[in-house]
Amino acid sequence: MISTRDLTKVFGSFTALSGISLDIMESEVVCIIGPSGSGKSTLLRCISFLEEYTSGEVEIEGRLLGYRRTPAGMVRETERNIDDVRRNVGMVFQHFNLWPHMSVLDNVTLGPRLTKRVPAATAEQAGRCALAKVGLEGFANRYPSQLSGGQQQRVGIARALAMEPHVILFDEPTSALDPQLVGEVLDTMKALAGEGITMVVVTHEMGFAAQVADRVVFMDGGQVIEQGPPSSLFGNPRSARLREFLETWK
Ligand code: ADP
Ligand code: MG
Repeated sequence: MISTRDLTKVFGSFTALSGISLDIMESEVVCIIGPSGSGKSTLLRCISFLEEYTSGEVEIEGRLLGYRRTPAGMVRETERNIDDVRRNVGMVFQHFNLWPHMSVLDNVTLGPRLTKRVPAATAEQAGRCALAKVGLEGFANRYPSQLSGGQQQRVGIARALAMEPHVILFDEPTSALDPQLVGEVLDTMKALAGEGITMVVVTHEMGFAAQVADRVVFMDGGQVIEQGPPSSLFGNPRSARLREFLETWK
């Protein structure tokens, strides 16, 4: 589904990602953990091409994101081709950024209406279906300010789902929430994982990663230090850096 090869991202003189090679299979749930500043968000942003990477490759479903191979070398894709590939990649952010002046349903259907040019009725149906998946079918006509933070983030997830993406990238989806609201969002994500949606989740919720992830990837200093099934990463960490990191989260 997603393949990065020697992916590197440099900001000025600072190397945020240093040779990341990672494969994500269809229906896989991959949790990315690591200290603040280790490059987790930058990785997700390069995978969704919100950030143009410096070197290496990102392939989404077999298509080289942002570039095309030619006999003369790599050529940048047109914006239109980039958008075509990105359309299948959903994103859920820490700050959900719902439009305050739009109803929940309008927030969820805006993407499909603008980018897929589907008729309003079709978008509405897909939007209601997405809201049902996050347990908010009765909330379509409310406004974001009338919802709790956890409900707002579930709308954020429904907004991603309404685009019918092939993979969803989550960047610390529960980090901005009060502790008592975290559970409902994690439960929603657990249900999606059970449906076989491909998910890449940057998270500090080690319990969620241990329970839901097929694979956990530990990043530090812009590199993948260790990866494997949660049982071995949490139960038998090999690198000193991962052991140290896990100590701080106990
Ligand atoms: P994480 O999500 O793991 O906390 P980030 O990917 O946000 O880490 O950031 C990795 C490093 O890259 C950090 O040191 C951060 O300061 C730096 N960085 C991220 N975005 C930019 C940017 N737009 N310009 C300069 N440095 C950046
Ligand atoms: Mg981050």
